[in-house]
Amino acid sequence: MNILVFGPNGSGKGTQGAIVQKKYNMPHIESGAIFRQNIGGGTELGKKAKEYIDRGDLVPDDITIPMILDRLREDDCKNGWLLDGFPRNKIQAETLAKALEEAGIKLDYIIEIVLDREVAKLRITGRRLCVNDNNHPNHIAFEAIKPVEKEGRLVCRVCGGDLNTRPDDQDDEAIDKRHNIYYDDVTGTMAAVNFFKQLDGPKVISVDGTPSISQVSESIMKEFA
Ligand code: AMP
Repeated sequence: MNILVFGPNGSGKGTQGAIVQKKYNMPHIESGAIFRQNIGGGTELGKKAKEYIDRGDLVPDDITIPMILDRLREDDCKNGWLLDGFPRNKIQAETLAKALEEAGIKLDYIIEIVLDREVAKLRITGRRLCVNDNNHPNHIAFEAIKPVEKEGRLVCRVCGGDLNTRPDDQDDEAIDKRHNIYYDDVTGTMAAVNFFKQLDGPKVISVDGTPSISQVSESIMKEFA
């Protein structure tokens, strides 16, 4: 099963992606997380990507597109994948669709989490990243995924690991820029969403991202055949 997940930053896209990934046991490929791992590891890719990410800009297509297409060719993707954070613009969408067609890979589902821009913005600053596993969601404003307190500090609710915040989540300008890109339906992410939604083949699962994590996840899960 091959799945694309779309949603503005702060919509719970990563959290929902992690739930689907766990249920179907498929690789959860998150472009943003791959960049962050590379930044943490001090790689060349990380060095190139960091300045764009910190500003809230997209990392250029000539870096991002091959990185994701190469990842999809790895062995663990043979039986399916869940792609999250890519495509982020119309060119990435068209390039991905072409690459999948050439490789004879069918896209099964498109998950779209719909959320008002102001609500999404409010949610961004509260999220926390587990240093051990990107698929351990933590958010200080959501009871269901609230970090736990240990020796006077907040740690990951799943594994007790240390928590980080993303620099681009604490910068107002970077948040606005990311949302400008997401809601742009001419060349930005909404153009990519609309491009995939009008394709014949994949089933579109469009859900309201405002209710609780479990309600959103229920709305998504019941759509799987
Ligand atoms: P995310 O974790 O999805 O919010 O991504 C964090 C940052 O990584 C974004 O703000 C971009 O700078 C960069 N990024 C992630 N995915 C892409 C993509 N598909 N194309 C370009 N840049 C990306």
